[in-house]
Amino acid sequence: MASLADELQQLFQQFSGQLEAAANEQAVRKVYADFGGANGAIRLKQKELIKSAPNDQKRVIGQATNEILQNVEAAFNAALGRLASQAEARELARSVDVTLPGRAHRLGHLHPITLARREIEAIFAQLGFTVAVGPQVETDFHNFEALAMPKDHPARDMQDTFYVAGAEGAAGEGADVVLRTHTSPVQIRTMLARKPPVRVIMPGTVYRRDDDATHSPMFNQVEGLCVDEGITFADLKGVLLHFARRFFGEEIGVRLRPSFFPFTEPSAEIDFSHGTCKGRGCRTCKNSGWIEIGGAGMVDPEVFRHVGYDSEKYTGFAFGWGIDRMAMLKYGVDNINAFFEGDVRFARQFR
Ligand SMILES: [Zn+2]
Repeated sequence: MASLADELQQLFQQFSGQLEAAANEQAVRKVYADFGGANGAIRLKQKELIKSAPNDQKRVIGQATNEILQNVEAAFNAALGRLASQAEARELARSVDVTLPGRAHRLGHLHPITLARREIEAIFAQLGFTVAVGPQVETDFHNFEALAMPKDHPARDMQDTFYVAGAEGAAGEGADVVLRTHTSPVQIRTMLARKPPVRVIMPGTVYRRDDDATHSPMFNQVEGLCVDEGITFADLKGVLLHFARRFFGEEIGVRLRPSFFPFTEPSAEIDFSHGTCKGRGCRTCKNSGWIEIGGAGMVDPEVFRHVGYDSEKYTGFAFGWGIDRMAMLKYGVDNINAFFEGDVRFARQFR
């Protein structure tokens, strides 16, 4: 029987060698199937030996091979257990330093122009003004004509803008289409749609062919319009003063200088006293103590005629300025283009 024991031992050695080399569970299971499985080498050898052996030997052969099969089974289970504990050890070895600072997600925030616009809207909302918006691509009528700026009017030169190609004649004669040069067309649209009393502010993006440190071809404006019975120039100045103090500070003063706009009469340039130098004069305000903010005036009766308001019954004031300019003054930004360059390091400074 020595040869039987040798043969089985040889198979077991092969099995052990291959099992040791098996690097993963799949390989371990394959080695087991190759030797200890129903069609494995040891089972086949067992069947072969029992078949050819004399009857009195069959039982001994069966016992000897079963013993080997038990060893195979035990080695197989041990190998699986070893793989499992190795995987667990690897998992534990992945160290986590719970004392490290967390990786915080940087929160977004609003652009400084949006911040300025919202603050302007909030201040006027408290005075009973509602917000109105309109299209950025406008007809010549809404942008110029209805604001008492006919085609040959010299004031158009100050607002040279971008005309939309191919739109001429779309709605008949004179239907030129432009990128709006101011938010004033929203005043026209509002007055055409509503009867007085009207109290609206109109923030929005406008376009002109300007480009330098304080002018961008695209910028943001806000205009205000108040129409009712008995509205006077004093109401205009009171509203401007209230706004100036709320937006820039209690010590701010307002100065109105005579000016000309085609759609207001009388018209004025609005100056706010310079908050940074407290009106004493500095380089920014050219030593005057005043900062030019925008324009204002009493709505010209000609504008009322275009929108069908009775200029004998109603009076009104309008004003307007650049939101970007307001943001530049409030946040101390000296180049308007910084707002539009999309550099988050710049925008992140304002909250
Ligand atoms: Zn100053």
